[in-house]
Amino acid sequence: MKIRFLGAAREVTGSRHTVSIPGESVLLDCGLYQGRRKLTYERNKNIPRAVINANAMLLGHAHIDHSGNIPNLILSGFRGKIYATSATVDLCRFMLLDSAYLQEKDVEYVNKRKRRRGEELVEPLYTTQDALEALDHFVPRSYNRWFKVTKNISAKFCDAGHVLGSAITLLRVNDRGRSLKIAYAVDLGRKGMPILRDPVQIKGVDYLIIESTYGNRLHEKVEESERILEDTVNRIVRQKGKLIIPSFTLERTQEVVYHLHNLIEEKRIPAIPIFVDSPLAVNITSVFRRHPECFDKETMRLLRGRSDPFGFDYVTYIREVDRSKALNEMEGPMVIISASGMAEGGRILHHLKNNIEDPRNIIMIVGYMAANTLGRRLVEKERQVKIFGELYTRKADVVVANSFSAHADRNELIEYVRNIGEGIKHIFVVHGEESQAIPFAEALREMGYSVTVPHLGDEVKLP
Ligand SMILES: [Zn+2]
Ligand SMILES: [Zn+2]
Repeated sequence: MKIRFLGAAREVTGSRHTVSIPGESVLLDCGLYQGRRKLTYERNKNIPRAVINANAMLLGHAHIDHSGNIPNLILSGFRGKIYATSATVDLCRFMLLDSAYLQEKDVEYVNKRKRRRGEELVEPLYTTQDALEALDHFVPRSYNRWFKVTKNISAKFCDAGHVLGSAITLLRVNDRGRSLKIAYAVDLGRKGMPILRDPVQIKGVDYLIIESTYGNRLHEKVEESERILEDTVNRIVRQKGKLIIPSFTLERTQEVVYHLHNLIEEKRIPAIPIFVDSPLAVNITSVFRRHPECFDKETMRLLRGRSDPFGFDYVTYIREVDRSKALNEMEGPMVIISASGMAEGGRILHHLKNNIEDPRNIIMIVGYMAANTLGRRLVEKERQVKIFGELYTRKADVVVANSFSAHADRNELIEYVRNIGEGIKHIFVVHGEESQAIPFAEALREMGYSVTVPHLGDEVKLP
């Protein structure tokens, strides 16, 4: 048996690994790599043969860094089925179509410049049509049930408590008469997160592939999120400013809305206007409503009651560009939640550009920001930032709320591994920058585990 690490090795984005035995190969995720612009296109475009030739794919969750390169995978010749939980399949419909739209937009912009300079034009990574065709490959599977993937490999999805539909993927590989169990816990959520159930504690595996986004950091408690949001909204009310929240459309946006809803209901903040400015958010929120099987007890209780935890009473969801632009003319206080999550594209750029130079405003960071993104520069509280190629002086304050994280932190990861129990032969640490992955691996070694932090392209033969 072999595992190959073909993405998200010593970095966070572009998850892509294969597990294979002679004649059979299964692909775990096929995400988009996100980072420095020039590098991303080439890396996403050219998918390694080992990935394309896999017999089937198991998709852990709908985040673009795990699912975003699927249309290109199909274009490149992959012919297998793509298994995922039913909520993940429904989410991917909107996530992939949105991603295709962004690719087309991006290329349009790049080509405009190229045309002026007489340079060769580029093609989008994939089109809306390609994304639609990719959706035909998806096959939904329920949680907690084993199913056959190839002749000798079966799989089971267990709730990962990370985003709606997210799963820890368990593989049972029959390798020359031996049965080996591999767990792919990428990404792994936290206990007590709003809306979602806690991650399922898996037991008794031979090999573990685990994420390390925050392998060397501790988050504030989940409950802190509401308190930080409360303070920040009340500040914005006093300052009559705009609270700008760049947010991942999947999960984080619904979580922020859920907290704001609670805060208003409990009269801890006044009912100021709240705008979710993202057509995708409207669609994603509709998928949430269709999948109550993923909710925790508290959310089920709210749904059965009178109040709406996704906040339609207080929140205005915006699809149209004109209404998005109109927000600019409106006076604060107000909250604007918009995408993209790392502020690399989308409407959030317009809101940042229009509001960053006004000291009454606040930018609130509620998600992971990859290196070299505008979001990361905001986390690092840089004074001067470039938006649409122009330099802006930041006067709006930046509030970083780590408690919102959908990823387990160092202690939560360690506790999770410890509770798997005895018998782990080896652990592979992926999906984390070196500053996180290496200290996390070291901590696991000190606990007595045998651990590797694979490099991109590494191939490991398992005994
Ligand atoms: Zn994720
Ligand atoms: Zn991820």
